[in-house]
Amino acid sequence: MGESLKEYTSLHLGGPAKRLIHAKSEAELIAAVSEADKSGEPLLIIGGGSNVLIGDEGFPGTVVRVETKGNSFTVDACSGGMITVAAGESWDEFVKWSIDDGFVGMESLSGIPGTIGASPIQNIGAYGHEVAEFIARVRTYDRKSGEQKTFSNSECGFEYRSSLFKKEKDRYVILDVTFQLERGEMSLPIKYAELAKALNVNIEDRVLIEQARAAVLSLRALKGMLLDAKDHDTWSAGSFFVNPIVSTEIAAKLPDDAPRWPQSDGRVKTSAAWLMERSGVKRGDCHEGAGVSTKHVLALVNNGNAKAADIIELARASRSAVKDKFGITLEPEVQFVGLSL
Ligand SMILES: Cc1cc2nc3c(=O)[nH]c(=O)nc-3n(C[C@H](O)[C@H](O)[C@H](O)COP(=O)(O)OP(=O)(O)OC[C@H]3O[C@@H](n4cnc5c(N)ncnc54)[C@H](O)[C@@H]3O)c2cc1C
Repeated sequence: MGESLKEYTSLHLGGPAKRLIHAKSEAELIAAVSEADKSGEPLLIIGGGSNVLIGDEGFPGTVVRVETKGNSFTVDACSGGMITVAAGESWDEFVKWSIDDGFVGMESLSGIPGTIGASPIQNIGAYGHEVAEFIARVRTYDRKSGEQKTFSNSECGFEYRSSLFKKEKDRYVILDVTFQLERGEMSLPIKYAELAKALNVNIEDRVLIEQARAAVLSLRALKGMLLDAKDHDTWSAGSFFVNPIVSTEIAAKLPDDAPRWPQSDGRVKTSAAWLMERSGVKRGDCHEGAGVSTKHVLALVNNGNAKAADIIELARASRSAVKDKFGITLEPEVQFVGLSL
């Protein structure tokens, strides 16, 4: 077996890959994927490795790490900017660049680890916004047809932490993403109470985009949601579970102080972190080398010597606690490779 995948994941976990290819150009990326597909070998595509939990046995096939770079953009006084960014570019470097260049919209999504190419897959989101609001199109390589296919925003099937690319897992390789952003100095209306409080403004107020980014980064750092190699609380894959969306009947049975966010389809989203804490899961809880972050109950972390199996055990215990207490089954946000809950 070949190189360990540990250093390519934010959990610092993952056994060896049979073969690891660093795809630095689009041609290399497509060639690596189509060759692996033709050979019938298992294929795993990774970007920043910040949303994956890879098993200790590693991966018995080809792992392609997307490292493509480059961007192009056109700016129009009326419609703003159309910015196309290669899949392997860093998400947060793009966010910073967009803000420095006077584009509005990305500020709430500051500090999320990973690559551009992964951003549409689970429709990344934070502080009241999600990337689907800003995506014009996504260009892909379709592994089934062997051809390129471009999806407009409405064809991407974006939902809360999901998209067509996540549902049709292993079919589309994302090559680049085109964002449509307006120019301006002021942020989008602040939608998230905690962020409004940190900025000392009211919900729906606007602040300078740089101010919004700085506040988001500070809040994320306090929660261990900014990568820091020296801080084991950030050796995670972010939120381990998605916030459950439940029927009104189930929501009505939750205690009065449970968070409730009504959805457009009549269902209600509640907070996975709240459910875990009320079920007795505590920050700092441990199982072998795995722990619940000391800064945020929803992040399961590698305390330095965890095995992937330890994280799974801890996740199972958290999930059972919530199921026993509230009858709600938490669904993972993290993508598992060679493991299951
Ligand atoms: C500390 C921390 C905080 C986080 N905070 C947030 C947050 O606030 N909001 C949020 O939404 N997420 C958050 N995340 C999760 C994660 O950052 C995002 O899901 C991110 O988009 C993953 O990007 P990546 O490049 O690391 O993807 P990876 O983890 O490498 O891959 C994720 C999935 O996408 C697939 N994939 C990756 N690139 C491609 C491609 N080019 N084509 C096809 N498939 C591909 C992989 O096969 C895998 O299934 C956080 C993670 C961490 C560690």
